[in-house]
Amino acid sequence: MARYKEAVCRLCRREGEKLFLKGEKCYTNKCPVEKRTYPPGQHGQGRRKATDYGMHLREKQKVRRMYGVLEKQFRRYYEVANRRPGVTGENLLQVLECRLDNIVYRMGFAPSRPAARQLVLHGHIRVNGRKVDIPSYEVRAGDIVAVKEGSRNIPLIKSSIEAAASRGVPEWLEVDWEQQTGKVLAVPTREQMDLAVQEHLIVEHYSR
Ligand code: SF4
Repeated sequence: MARYKEAVCRLCRREGEKLFLKGEKCYTNKCPVEKRTYPPGQHGQGRRKATDYGMHLREKQKVRRMYGVLEKQFRRYYEVANRRPGVTGENLLQVLECRLDNIVYRMGFAPSRPAARQLVLHGHIRVNGRKVDIPSYEVRAGDIVAVKEGSRNIPLIKSSIEAAASRGVPEWLEVDWEQQTGKVLAVPTREQMDLAVQEHLIVEHYSR
């Protein structure tokens, strides 16, 4: 499947905020967003104020990039969210939060979503005891997500757990870092998702 392969820090600079795509570097003062607060590129410092359309587009791009989802799949997620009962914007964030790569990241088994995606793709993750190597796999409430027994000594996972232990995990997840396993207690509500996102702008973007 196609995916973005350029320098990911450019994406954060383009959105003007941290998208946490690089792992530990994102938590240090080496983060380029803090040093250069303008968009990348030759005209980065000379851009005009955004229009309404521009604001909607930027919010959509920000969330899409945050979760590492390409446009076609993101639109599909929007359509799924729109068909479900409830608030479309919240549904959309729930669908994204329940992606397996995001759950692995949220549980602290990987330092970033792209790294979590790699772990899933390389077969290091089990869901309810079965190998799942599809990053977009939708995890449900009650599912057990674990690092494969033979993969528990991978340095990246160990260092990630150490860092995550100081940051904690969201309340809708329960994690046993010793056993490298976790449970999804519930699909998160909007209040439980600690996301600086204005999802209504994304809904407005797609419903134009
Ligand atoms: Fe984004 Fe992390 Fe790069 Fe900072 S270090 S610009 S948060 S990916």
